[in-house]
Amino acid sequence: MVPTYFYFIYIFFPFISKVMIDIEKIIKTIYDKTKHIKSGKVASYIPQLAKVDPSIFAISMMDCDGNMYSVGDDKKEVAIESISKLFTFSKAVHTFGEKEVIKKIGAHGSSLPFNSVIAEELSPTHTINPFVNQGAMATTSLFYKKNKEDFKEKILHNLREYAGRKLRLGRSVYHSEGATNSTNMGLAYLLKSHDRFYGNVKDSVDVYTAQCSMMVTSRDLATMAAVYAKGGVHPKTGKKLLEKEEVTYILRTLRPEGLYEYSDIWATKNGCVAAKSGVGGGILIAIPGIGGIGIVSPPLDKHGNSVRGIKAGTSLSKKLVHHYNPPKDEYVCKITHEKKEKEKEKPRGKKKQQKKKKKHTKKKDQSKINKKTHKKKKEKHTKKKKKTN
Ligand code: GLN
Repeated sequence: MVPTYFYFIYIFFPFISKVMIDIEKIIKTIYDKTKHIKSGKVASYIPQLAKVDPSIFAISMMDCDGNMYSVGDDKKEVAIESISKLFTFSKAVHTFGEKEVIKKIGAHGSSLPFNSVIAEELSPTHTINPFVNQGAMATTSLFYKKNKEDFKEKILHNLREYAGRKLRLGRSVYHSEGATNSTNMGLAYLLKSHDRFYGNVKDSVDVYTAQCSMMVTSRDLATMAAVYAKGGVHPKTGKKLLEKEEVTYILRTLRPEGLYEYSDIWATKNGCVAAKSGVGGGILIAIPGIGGIGIVSPPLDKHGNSVRGIKAGTSLSKKLVHHYNPPKDEYVCKITHEKKEKEKEKPRGKKKQQKKKKKHTKKKDQSKINKKTHKKKKEKHTKKKKKTN
């Protein structure tokens, strides 16, 4: 005899496997459609990044339950670069609280490049926001410790927590960036002069450079993004890295700034989906309640965002959001709707009351009748008794 659970598997398995196959199919289709794009240039202001293989291309997605869907060179590593800013900022929000971070770093918009000296001088906060170099380096400096190794370990360990594995430091990128980071050093000293830097400049910029040099694959980026999609809980390790409210605040801050000067165009195309890019060629996208996306393709556009990453990321997030959060008619007037609902309740309430009243009076009448008949019966009975006497 066939056991009953067989029927259960038989009924539900095609459904489960269909969902999985669909996402894989979507990713594969988008991958095939974008792989022919050859525009963009790998970053060259950090010499080691200029040596990266421009043909690397991978798209990965981890859903909120930790299932991974992936295509392409998803085992090839690139330097995380600016995407690391998101995790140090998250650590700052978790450690010091939203208010303190807004006070010390700020959340101003910037329409200038991520390492612009002019932007720093013109901005009223100078640190601008946590996703440009000024705000990001200042954020790292919030964790400054005299013992540099401890300081560095604290920042790098945080990145590993999100990846759920022991990410390695890309030593050649680290040394290459460290040897050529005069602009970042200049920006940091300028911040110090404005009293907007919170640790030793040399050490803090060095630790910031190390955090940018951690090596990640598209799978790592998808996993790290999935933590935000799941409201702060790591889908694989189960560790709670952030409170839900913190995630909401972090993603709200990321949305207008994660892709630099392209952020507003991204927002008009992708709405609520938050993304962060890095000059290593990675892009991370977090879609709450759905999952995290990681894309790696080193050639960049003029803003420093991966060309294929933006294209594929837009298509994939649009598809996923449309499928799992189908658009509702949000323009139906909610005020009128609420009024109508209340009105519907009112007459029903009245009717109920009227019905109750009717029932009550009916009962009353009935008891009156009952009393009368009872009286009559009693009278008849006494009459009979008298007669017999
Ligand atoms: N480490 C790089 C820098 O500081 C990060 C920039 C980026 O990825 N946009 O310039």
